[in-house]
Amino acid sequence: MENNNQYRGVWVFVEHKGSQIEKCSLELLSLGRNLASELQVDLSTLVIGNLMGRLSEELMYYGVDVVYVVENPVLERYTTSPYHKITCDLIKEYRPEIVLFSSTPIGMDLAPRVACELKTGLVAHCVDLKIDKGKRQLLQICPYGDYMATMITTVKPQMVTVQPGVTPLPPRGEFKQGQTVQIEREIDIGNIKIIEVVKPEKADMGKIEESDVIIAIGRGVKNMSLAEKLAECLGGILGATQPIVDAGLLPESRMIGQTGKAVRPKVYIACGISGAGQHIVGMKNSGLIVAINTDEKAPIFKVADYGIIGDVSKVIPALIAALNR
Ligand SMILES: Cc1cc2nc3c(=O)[nH]c(=O)nc-3n(C[C@H](O)[C@H](O)[C@H](O)COP(=O)(O)OP(=O)(O)OC[C@H]3O[C@@H](n4cnc5c(N)ncnc54)[C@H](O)[C@@H]3O)c2cc1C
Repeated sequence: MENNNQYRGVWVFVEHKGSQIEKCSLELLSLGRNLASELQVDLSTLVIGNLMGRLSEELMYYGVDVVYVVENPVLERYTTSPYHKITCDLIKEYRPEIVLFSSTPIGMDLAPRVACELKTGLVAHCVDLKIDKGKRQLLQICPYGDYMATMITTVKPQMVTVQPGVTPLPPRGEFKQGQTVQIEREIDIGNIKIIEVVKPEKADMGKIEESDVIIAIGRGVKNMSLAEKLAECLGGILGATQPIVDAGLLPESRMIGQTGKAVRPKVYIACGISGAGQHIVGMKNSGLIVAINTDEKAPIFKVADYGIIGDVSKVIPALIAALNR
């Protein structure tokens, strides 16, 4: 096993549009700056893309010490394999002890693959990060049902994804000159060719808070079209938990809960939803609540009028067949 002491520094994987840093990454910079100060190491960022203008300079207004830049026209848009390869190669070369990603579609695609290749752990959807200074250990805090769990990774680098929107945005501070490291790499994008870029729908198709029937989907639903068919059958609308929205499967306007919307339809069918406190607060006032979950201990059953213990991929078609009859 590699020696954990060879790892030093905190890295943030920065998402951006040209020279504009995404909000989620600004939040990571705020967390990363605190962690780096506690550990008395550099805060570094990895930026991959094309035509990023003054991005590295902009990062230095947020307390970044070192910016690693990989710039190439083929990296204009995120694609998994080249971003994965570059990120893994640079982490292996520079050995940061902590690497932060956002729980965005990009972060959630990239971080687990990188962790897997580096044979380290990954704690996803963290809402806070702290340091155990004595052990130089990252304390990774994330919701676990109604509780907050603190987890550690015993090998390095310690990698996390952080939930967007839970960390206050840092102010753009004084410019502090840091170091920019331009990385030259042969980039092989293999057979990837972007044919079309489809923008997420801006106009929502119906307001969730006005619907009498909501079919809410959570991480347990792997086939969204089944839930769509059930919604169609009942004249309802699809709602979602936060991870579904974060994965880009439904627009933010469909999120139900503490961060999302509070709804009170006549019928609420929760499919593959665990029933975290942050979700329950948004739907507990619904009329009839039906929950489908494979885990009989899922907290959603505590607020459900009817609970179906079973696999959504079997239960939903059975419900549709019964409704059609
Ligand atoms: C500050 C803050 C605000 C938040 N705000 C919100 C919010 O507004 N809305 C929100 O939803 N979340 C919110 N969250 C996130 C929340 O804590 C939970 O992480 C989220 O609700 C969990 O979503 P989920 O139930 O889809 O996923 P999970 O918790 O992963 O649950 C998936 C469930 O699916 C079940 N399952 C798996 N496979 C199947 C199958 N084949 N058939 C049936 N069941 C299956 C599992 O048993 C499990 O219970 C917030 C978190 C924080 C920290």
